[in-house]
Amino acid sequence: AGTGKFFVGGNWKCNGTKDSISTLVSDLNSANIESDVDVVVSPPYLYIDQVKSSLTDRIEISAQNCWVGKGGAYTGEISAEQLKDIGCKWVILGHSERRHVIGENDEFIGKKAAYALNQDIKVIACIGELLEERESGKTFDVCFKQLKAFADSVPSWENIVIAYEPVWAIGTGKVATPEQAQEVHSAVRDWLKKNVSAEVASSIRIIYGGSVNGSNCDELAKQEDIDGFLVGGASLKGPEFAKIVNSVT
Ligand code: PEP
Repeated sequence: AGTGKFFVGGNWKCNGTKDSISTLVSDLNSANIESDVDVVVSPPYLYIDQVKSSLTDRIEISAQNCWVGKGGAYTGEISAEQLKDIGCKWVILGHSERRHVIGENDEFIGKKAAYALNQDIKVIACIGELLEERESGKTFDVCFKQLKAFADSVPSWENIVIAYEPVWAIGTGKVATPEQAQEVHSAVRDWLKKNVSAEVASSIRIIYGGSVNGSNCDELAKQEDIDGFLVGGASLKGPEFAKIVNSVT
């Protein structure tokens, strides 16, 4: 792991019912969790209140998205002010499913990050390349372009965690090798050093996401520039998620 405090987020995506979430919360409440890790879970909006009132304070809550500005006549959206109102501390922005399934672009995502930060919501800023982009040698170009869109909008990087999530690894069972992940994490740090500041480059946490599970987390966590994980599928199982949290080295 890197020098920043280890950070593990669980992205529940569009999964769960009141009952299954109640079971997951009680598994998390009874799990043994190392003290030197920031832990965040991200339920669907509808269940945030349920989770907030039943989950241990040891784990913070994130939304999976939010609106780009102040609330109002935006049917179906949820604003950063509303997230703050219900005690949600974090938001995931730029997840590959929002970029590639819903069609959000770099600039829109950058603006969302700026607005959320201005409302005191911390941001898990996701970047990552498609398989064809990796195969055609464009991994760094794509990640740097996505990073630049955040850099062009955000007032500061203090309350941001960057999640490198290669799209080909998300939900596919094809995890990046520790070397593949380390190579991009280190390149992201270099980019930040050149384009933002040496201070941000060394202090920011860069977490890896894409088919992380209880069996592959330890090897990934050993890499110098991997400061934690964003976990999808495996975060729906309390004991396995706790194992990933405890892979902090
Ligand atoms: C994710 O959705 O952020 C993710 C990493 O999913 P999975 O762990 O299921 O690949």
